[in-house]
Amino acid sequence: MRVPCRLFATDAVRATLDATTLRQACNVAALPGIVTASMVMPDAHSGYGFPIGGVAAFDPEAGGVVSAGGVGFDIACGVRSLVTGLTPDDVRSRGREIADALFAAIPCGVGTGGAMPLTPGKLDDMLRGGAVWAVESGYGTAADLDRTEEGGRMRGADPAHVSAEAKKRFADQLGTLGSGNHYMEVQRVTHIHDAEAARAFGLAQDDILLSIHCGSRGLGHQIGTDYLARMTEAAPRFGLHLPDRELACAPILSELGQQYLAAMRAGINCALANRQVLTHLARTVLHSLFSHARLRMVYDVSHNTCKEETHMVQGVARRLFVHRKGATRAFGPGHEALGAFCRAVGQPVLVGGSMGTPSYILAGCESGAQSFYSANHGAGRAMSRTAARRDIAAKAMLAALDRSGIHIRTKDPRSIAEEAPQAYKDVDTVVHATEAAGLARRVARTEPLICIKG
Ligand code: 5GP
Ligand code: MN
Ligand code: MN
Repeated sequence: MRVPCRLFATDAVRATLDATTLRQACNVAALPGIVTASMVMPDAHSGYGFPIGGVAAFDPEAGGVVSAGGVGFDIACGVRSLVTGLTPDDVRSRGREIADALFAAIPCGVGTGGAMPLTPGKLDDMLRGGAVWAVESGYGTAADLDRTEEGGRMRGADPAHVSAEAKKRFADQLGTLGSGNHYMEVQRVTHIHDAEAARAFGLAQDDILLSIHCGSRGLGHQIGTDYLARMTEAAPRFGLHLPDRELACAPILSELGQQYLAAMRAGINCALANRQVLTHLARTVLHSLFSHARLRMVYDVSHNTCKEETHMVQGVARRLFVHRKGATRAFGPGHEALGAFCRAVGQPVLVGGSMGTPSYILAGCESGAQSFYSANHGAGRAMSRTAARRDIAAKAMLAALDRSGIHIRTKDPRSIAEEAPQAYKDVDTVVHATEAAGLARRVARTEPLICIKG
């Protein structure tokens, strides 16, 4: 190990971190050019090579690397939340109707295509333009972009470094949710923890939110697959001796490293555009049901990225490439990258719980400097998918949730057990650890009412 591992955890969270997760974090600490520490967020669990809930920053001038597995295969998977303008009564009285209408309009499920096929030229424009392209194409407003990380468009994206196979896989996937734990969820704000930040984010007690969790679908996955193979093949040439082949990476300053970064940024734009188009679809549905529906953005933030940022390391400003895999950027108050609406209170951090338990909206804080301004992205898995399928009776679980007023819709009833609330860590425990460590602070807590699962 070149640097230590640093776990951000309470005793309760420490008990959820298994040996594989910790070994993976130690492996990351052995990579060239890593700065300060290999960091583990409280929601961490094992992933491909790098843990999910892992943060690692690399200095290009010190031989630092970029890793496809360190970003994750669903490039720029992320969460976008909006205030709907609906009331709790609207959802109480017409919950099943809303669930059915969203489920009918939002393409979801494994490999599902959408209704918006892209010609190759348009697809390249989308990969360069992200959510800005989507808004220019008629899916949303400039106000949406003000509330999107990077203003909705990641600079430095180059579609020329994205394979034809990756583009083909996405050709009909714009505006699709995907499968697994991707969701479109209607939530009620049940607690406001920080009134000033809530006001800045436009959140109030009992607001009904719409929250969208999805990423770059087949395109990001194929970019990850393509570059993992190229990085594995090139490792000996770079003189890289990896503790685990899943850590395949390339020096940031190498041609391959630069190509991956350009492709990965195109993947970020793809995810931003996808969430923007899904927002448009949801708006259409809710407007058709409620004349007073008004979907106003809270924020859109990705949690599988590698970003070039300046950080102070032992009093010296350094340009670093920060991998956040299943981790959310959480800039503190005053950060120059933040939009005016949150500059005074810190960046909104959108944290999922599960389809049956609370979710959170947090804000970045000054003390987040210790994790390169990063926080958790969810509760994190507590059970493997296989164990959840084996141990949880899906039908009974869905019926119980429905009786408690949480309406779930899914294209894949056979996999839904994997998404059971008990398959995830306790989100309150995880968020408490995040706050206690000073990575981010609680702003609002929500509870699910409707969840469309891929
Ligand atoms: P990931 O990005 O690692 O795939 O998932 C992020 C987090 O989303 C998980 O750690 C989990 O806590 C949360 N999550 C998974 N399914 C749901 C859901 O249906 N609703 C909400 N609100 N959160 C979920
Ligand atoms: Mn995700
Ligand atoms: Mn994802």
